[in-house]
Amino acid sequence: MQNHQKTDLYQPETIAHSLAILAELGSRGAVMAGGTWIMRAPLRNEALAQAYVTIARIPELHQVVVNDTHVTIGSGVTHAQLARDLQAVPQLGGLMAAAGDSANPAVRQAATVGGNLCAVGFSAADIVPALLCQDAEVELETLEGGRRRMGLAAFLKNWDTLRPTSLLLHVLVPRRHAISAHARLPLRKAGDYPVAIVSVSVERRQDGSIGNAAVGIGSVEAAVRRWSSLEEAISGLPFNSPLIQQYASDRASEFVGREGPEVPGWYRVHVLPALVRRAFEKLQKH
Ligand SMILES: Cc1cc2nc3c(=O)[nH]c(=O)nc-3n(C[C@H](O)[C@H](O)[C@H](O)COP(=O)(O)OP(=O)(O)OC[C@H]3O[C@@H](n4cnc5c(N)ncnc54)[C@H](O)[C@@H]3O)c2cc1C
Repeated sequence: MQNHQKTDLYQPETIAHSLAILAELGSRGAVMAGGTWIMRAPLRNEALAQAYVTIARIPELHQVVVNDTHVTIGSGVTHAQLARDLQAVPQLGGLMAAAGDSANPAVRQAATVGGNLCAVGFSAADIVPALLCQDAEVELETLEGGRRRMGLAAFLKNWDTLRPTSLLLHVLVPRRHAISAHARLPLRKAGDYPVAIVSVSVERRQDGSIGNAAVGIGSVEAAVRRWSSLEEAISGLPFNSPLIQQYASDRASEFVGREGPEVPGWYRVHVLPALVRRAFEKLQKH
């Protein structure tokens, strides 16, 4: 016989009210955004929370605001909305592709930016490596601690201890003269999840060479991370995709691919250099 657990759903209309409910629920509660990660908890053998606090009715969390210094993305913005709203921001072509190519059209209408950053253990998140390349910051709030900002890398490292009473509010991306691209390898047997992801952001120097390279790698290891040795090695090189692929091949052994039922770990590492090349080919079209 199946054990059906009762789950409460709260639908506050302000950030303050959400925080008050989360504080009262403590470890019994959690935020719900698009629900596309939460709904698969049983498949991961994870328990559902006893109560969820949805952010669907808080308008402030569903906006993308572009000004001269930053692009501010509400945590409740869906992948589909992000892909639409970033069309006018060439610097964020990589983030736009990360949002617009992820999963499938139905999931993109529901899944949110906040859910992508807050889903603990989600190695194949597309938006995370694209934002890591942009040196993004996040803004979060708790009832007792108030509002604060931190770098995305620090947030990802500490999020497991900050939840469940924290609410992620916004992601802030600084504007700069960079170009970016996103390449991913989906495999039919991996469902709609990519087996490896490469996100890149670079500046084009006046002499035509690569400056300030940022390379984010997702789905290869358990945690998404920047590939700093490759970033250093390719700074100053010409935009020559086969050459950059060679630099990536020379350094790919720095990764230990995560094992999974869909592909073995070595395969994720094996495809990385070709994905790096593809990302740079996309950049050259800018
Ligand atoms: C079959 C399938 C394939 C998919 N493939 C991909 C893919 O290839 N790439 C990709 O990027 N995504 C993919 N997704 C979507 C993925 O689930 C979402 O990108 C994301 O990880 C979850 O977003 P969500 O809004 O649904 O979050 P939810 O499921 O609502 O929440 C996820 C977690 O984040 C927490 N949370 C959410 N919002 C906040 C907040 N504002 N503050 C604090 N905590 C919060 C929740 O408590 C929960 O722990 C796929 C989904 C499905 C179902």
